[in-house]
Amino acid sequence: MRAWDVSQHVRAAGGEANGMMMRVASARALWRWLRSGGSVRCNSWRWNSSSAREKATRYTVGEKIHGFTINQVTAVPDLFLTAVKLNHDNTGAQYLHVARDDPNNLFSVQFRTTPLNSTGVPHILEHVVLCGSEKYPVRDPFFKMLTRSLSTFMNAFTASDYTMYPFSTQNPKDFQNLLSVYLDAVFFPCLRELDFWQEGWRLEYETPGDPLSPLVFKGVVFNEMKGVFANNENLYAQHLQNKLLPYHTYSVISGGDPLQIPTLTWEELKCFHATHYHPSNARFLTYGDLPLEQHLEQIQEEALCKFQRIEPATSVPRQPRWSEPREYHVPCGSDSMAPDPTKQTTYSVSYLLGDITDTFETFILSLMSSLLVSGPNSPFYKALIDARIGTDFAPVVGYDGSTREACFSIGLQGIAEQDVKTVKEIIEKVIDEVIEKGFEEERIEALLHKIEIQLKHQTTNFGLALASHVATNWNHEGDPVEVLQINEKVTRFRQSLKENPRFLQDKLRHYFKENPHRLALSMSPDEGYLENQANAEKRTLQEKVNSLSTEQKKEIYEKGLELIAAQSSTQDVSCLPALKVSDIQQTFPLTPVEMDYVGGEVPIQYCHQPTNGIVYFRAFTSLNTLPEELKPYVPLFCNVITRMGCGKLNYRDQAQQIELKTGGMSASPKILQDNENLDMYEQGVLFTSLCLDRNLPDMMQLWTDIFNSPHFDDEEHFGVLVMMVAQELSNGIPDAGHQYAAVRAGKTLTPAGNLQEIFNGMSQVQHMKRIAEMPELVTLLRKLPRIKMHLMTSENMRCSVNATPQEIPEASKEVEKFLKNIPGFGKKKKEKKLVRSNIIEKPLVPEDVGSEISGSSKATKKLVFEPTFKACQMKTHFQLPFPVNYVSECIRTVPYMNPDFAKLAVLARLMTAKFLHGEIREKGGAYGGGANLSNGGLFSFYSYRDPNSLDTLSVFKRSISWAKAGKFTQEDIDEAKLSVFSAVDAPIAPSDKGLDRFLYGISDDMKLKRRQQLFAVDRDDLIEVANKYLTAGHGTSGAAILGPESESIKREPTWVQR
Ligand SMILES: [Zn+2]
Repeated sequence: MRAWDVSQHVRAAGGEANGMMMRVASARALWRWLRSGGSVRCNSWRWNSSSAREKATRYTVGEKIHGFTINQVTAVPDLFLTAVKLNHDNTGAQYLHVARDDPNNLFSVQFRTTPLNSTGVPHILEHVVLCGSEKYPVRDPFFKMLTRSLSTFMNAFTASDYTMYPFSTQNPKDFQNLLSVYLDAVFFPCLRELDFWQEGWRLEYETPGDPLSPLVFKGVVFNEMKGVFANNENLYAQHLQNKLLPYHTYSVISGGDPLQIPTLTWEELKCFHATHYHPSNARFLTYGDLPLEQHLEQIQEEALCKFQRIEPATSVPRQPRWSEPREYHVPCGSDSMAPDPTKQTTYSVSYLLGDITDTFETFILSLMSSLLVSGPNSPFYKALIDARIGTDFAPVVGYDGSTREACFSIGLQGIAEQDVKTVKEIIEKVIDEVIEKGFEEERIEALLHKIEIQLKHQTTNFGLALASHVATNWNHEGDPVEVLQINEKVTRFRQSLKENPRFLQDKLRHYFKENPHRLALSMSPDEGYLENQANAEKRTLQEKVNSLSTEQKKEIYEKGLELIAAQSSTQDVSCLPALKVSDIQQTFPLTPVEMDYVGGEVPIQYCHQPTNGIVYFRAFTSLNTLPEELKPYVPLFCNVITRMGCGKLNYRDQAQQIELKTGGMSASPKILQDNENLDMYEQGVLFTSLCLDRNLPDMMQLWTDIFNSPHFDDEEHFGVLVMMVAQELSNGIPDAGHQYAAVRAGKTLTPAGNLQEIFNGMSQVQHMKRIAEMPELVTLLRKLPRIKMHLMTSENMRCSVNATPQEIPEASKEVEKFLKNIPGFGKKKKEKKLVRSNIIEKPLVPEDVGSEISGSSKATKKLVFEPTFKACQMKTHFQLPFPVNYVSECIRTVPYMNPDFAKLAVLARLMTAKFLHGEIREKGGAYGGGANLSNGGLFSFYSYRDPNSLDTLSVFKRSISWAKAGKFTQEDIDEAKLSVFSAVDAPIAPSDKGLDRFLYGISDDMKLKRRQQLFAVDRDDLIEVANKYLTAGHGTSGAAILGPESESIKREPTWVQR
């Protein structure tokens, strides 16, 4: 159910934070996985007989390869893969190879880790094994490898009952390098005491050099877990699992309870490693187009040949069933951002279902769960959400297959305490009704359509998604290949339904109505909760401190200094394998696009891609004519525009149509920074959608209706959506605090920064909170048609289509029909005059100037231009009830096309890897920290779940001095470049090819130029840009902190308190 990871990546390019930090486990496990699709460079019409998956079908059962024996070979055509199962002869290690013609190869090893206490031992171990091993005895090979490789993914997860170490890369040499480091890390780690202190927990003087300062708890996992449980959704999910499955490993917190972590000893950690990280308790998975033999040989020689079989005692027994339902109440902290402060109770009912290894039953239950809770036509949505008792579903809702026995939960958050009883009654009533009446056939069809589309839709992390998807089943001795055979299950389901029309109803009766293993869990804020937590920590600390002798205190003092000395020492990392800059490809595969102009005015970009029979349609429209006072409402408008009904369809029918005919239709606000000038930007809304080729006319009809006649009259339903949006924003802060801090810090630095804060910053969260508190919404509802009038028109619109070459003519016809039928078409000539004086028009892609494209038409963009804009400094402290801080400082630098941009991009990686990581995470004890350069031209420093606030800002300052002093080597620069290129060359899914050109006007030529600039960056360049842009006084910077009340910040008058 829960997963903790070792590193939190922030990619500079898209600013996509949080890496794989898994959200609260929910019903959507299967959907999430299917949605992730796969990245396949060649598609079915290009595959030939020598493909990796073809080759894999030629293995025979019983064949012996490098100490392994093949025991099963299965082709899974729906997913374009061949699965090969093997066993290691000497140790019994299990192995699954998934051959697929995808160059983004993945490796993962997973161990069954089933703790019986909440000291966080598996989680701390997961961190510590990555801190050095026999062959690679450097301090943290994991983080060092991040910059010595072109990996597309590296991380480690601790789930409730397993620990997984995955990586992926497109480079074969890199694969071998990373495999070597990962194998040595998990099987032969150093497990040094100093690393245990750094990553787990330790007592240390607040100022390590000052034995008169107070003793405090420090440690990466200790702070990480405090941050995790600062989020009430996480807290609720954890309680739920512990209480529904109270018998064995699921009754404890595998990530660690901050109050229990300080009881773990180094000896216990080493013992847990010896008993759990053994090949006999391991499952290996490889995925992609690289040959299996090579993997097996390396794994055998570097690790497995050194072990003999043991009998691991790690299996999870079944939870003894209850004879009657149970009820619990737990307290939590109050949420200052809650849409309605008097309604902060969460309540849900959970049912323990069947064994996870029965894959057909599991499939049916997850399907049924979707029918029960997904979308406005589901019975629980109608009965609970539409009733407006709470703000949204409870944090854990629907099917959850992440434990040995699956569960289902249903409930609400944001309810008044006295409404608990009502919610309970509604849940029982809905179950009775569905058992009686069953599900509508059309909804079942819509769901099966969703499966079809999600099997075909491809994204870039298929290998990783597959590894996570089979992990739980496999962990409990299930068959991972069975999990992948989805079409067979669909067929069997259809058959079952035909034979017994009450098939689903019978399941519902059995698993819900007649199931006494049922938990009702409520959670509500307790006045003194945060204080009690803090006091409990203080008591634990005090007990530890009181029991210390003078001798022991002296030892702590010395160990503290020793740790700092170790963290500060430069180390020889030459033992680690590394790619060289020369291993980076000089160029990259180009993405040709074709431009067309409907009626000579609306540009459409066509991109031919192997999309497996799916069409991706996007449209971007401008906000330039929208009155300023309506701007803050644009994110809400986008959120509801495809969910309120349109044309003849009410919102329920519309939702049904969208599910039956498309893979999703949505809108989102966009601020597109100009490539050449930081005082220019485009503002607009991006409409995004996908469907199977055969459904394109239906999808375009839906868009036509949404553009022509969206409904804005259902105040009830609008109120429901408003509450959900407000709740989601509020819940999202603890996971994305560093992003909110960065947006705020950049607010006064560029004209786009200010709008960014309005759309995506804390201002938006507070704005939505105010809206959610309004007694009536009619006034607000009346604003929506006004926004629609400015926004949903073909004037200033551009479109893009990604589809197979065969489908393009049909797509072109449909898009043209759509454009001719929506407002604005043909009007452009008359109203050519620009509405505002500060708007200028530029070609979308600079190189298009002068080129001859069908007649006089050219794709242009209309930018807001504020030539007199003056950046100024602002420092904001958002005081929030969190135990940790999120700190950010932003500096205005240069736009994408400026030659210094490449230098700054390398500098950000260099400063992160060689200075900030060590200071903020290793020494400071924060979960993460670093610097990145955004396409918006802001150089941003950040920290994530940080025990420090102002101190971290001074670390940022020191990192600049460090950079200016040039205390780095050529090797450091090369590593920073590898790290930049692993982001630049990250795989792009067929659906997203050409998107940079469509949105930002960044052509392949511009990318090539940028590439050459990146290769050329040298030492002098880095020192030069550090001096030119990062020095205070030259650049203008802003800062923001989200975190608890702080006396030291209050004392500084330059800080604004919010
Ligand atoms: Zn962690």
